[in-house]
Amino acid sequence: MKKHIAVVSGDGIGPDIIREALKVLSAVGAKFAHTFTTSEYEAGGIALDHTGIPLPEETLKGCQESDSVLLGAVGGPKWDTLPSHLRPEKALLGLRGGMGLFCNLRPAILYKQLADACPLKKEIVGEGLDLMVVRELTGGIYFGERGRDENSAYDTMAYTVGEIERIVRKAFEIAQKRSGRLCSVDKANILNTSQLWREVVGRVQGDYPNVQVSHLYVDNAAMQLVRNPRQFDVIVTENMFGDILSDEASQITGSIGMLPSASLREDSFGMYEPIHGSAPDIAGKDLANPIATILSVAMMLRYSFGLATEADAIESAVSKVLDKGYRTADIYTEGMKKVGTSEMGSLIAQSL
Ligand code: NAD
Repeated sequence: MKKHIAVVSGDGIGPDIIREALKVLSAVGAKFAHTFTTSEYEAGGIALDHTGIPLPEETLKGCQESDSVLLGAVGGPKWDTLPSHLRPEKALLGLRGGMGLFCNLRPAILYKQLADACPLKKEIVGEGLDLMVVRELTGGIYFGERGRDENSAYDTMAYTVGEIERIVRKAFEIAQKRSGRLCSVDKANILNTSQLWREVVGRVQGDYPNVQVSHLYVDNAAMQLVRNPRQFDVIVTENMFGDILSDEASQITGSIGMLPSASLREDSFGMYEPIHGSAPDIAGKDLANPIATILSVAMMLRYSFGLATEADAIESAVSKVLDKGYRTADIYTEGMKKVGTSEMGSLIAQSL
């Protein structure tokens, strides 16, 4: 297979972690006889410094013309005082909106080797956790009509049937490939948008008879995630609920440096990035954990290129390296072998 990937390293630890992810991508190419070519583009603070805007046209165009996008992270204190339309984070919204990426996949995995990092009791998480939050990314209250005057303010949550159906179908397809269990989260006891959401889930369900569906109100879902997270496999929900629940789910794994994400559109095109930010405190110091970005490459292979065996190979290489006791500083515990960003990337590439 031949694929061209747009690489946007961004700011802070972005270049450190992307370097390691590309090491692993190239090891996969060599092992499985695929050709992965890459082009580098600037976005975020580095683009502001060079061009005066966070998302240059050339970057968006390069990303749109590629087979998929690998992103590091953007932002940092240097650009924090700029007006909001010039903040590096605008680049992320521009990329998501500009490429129509409406489906955000956020796996929350607690590796058994890192069980001590989990803030929940052992009897609650058992042998580890592995759940997937599917979040609608381009609709809902973050994009609805808004306004304010001195005494009042409003934001509007709006969804069309089409917007709900396309994200719900993605979630059903993912649930079908995993355990066959899907939990749809809404607030249908109060919100019109949630009542429509529930109706669409019910109708689409007919096309996926082998997927077992449950419904939860979002307040209950937030509670259940810490009370009994193992009851969940795939969760699907609208934009704002998904924003909150996916952060909650990632924090119960206790390891921000370990979690990847994908943002997809209707075809197989996607943008893949770690869930963490640019960690300016440790940038360029060989301290960053590259595993979230390496696992983002695995997601790219699985969801954009249909290369499930290759994706499994990366995930099991990560697991093997953890089994051998190698840890970057953020996941280090006594008795383990402490390694830097670059050595962690090399160990995973070699383990492939
Ligand atoms: P952050 O995720 O960058 O860092 C939070 C803490 O986690 C820091 O102590 C950091 O050192 C640590 N950390 C993060 N990733 C790590 C890794 N891979 N390995 C080891 N430790 C890691 O969040 P923040 O400090 O709130 O934000 C820093 C900058 O990143 C801000 O400018 C913010 O706007 C931006 N940000 C960008 C994205 C993105 O590009 N998607 C997401 C969140 C924040």
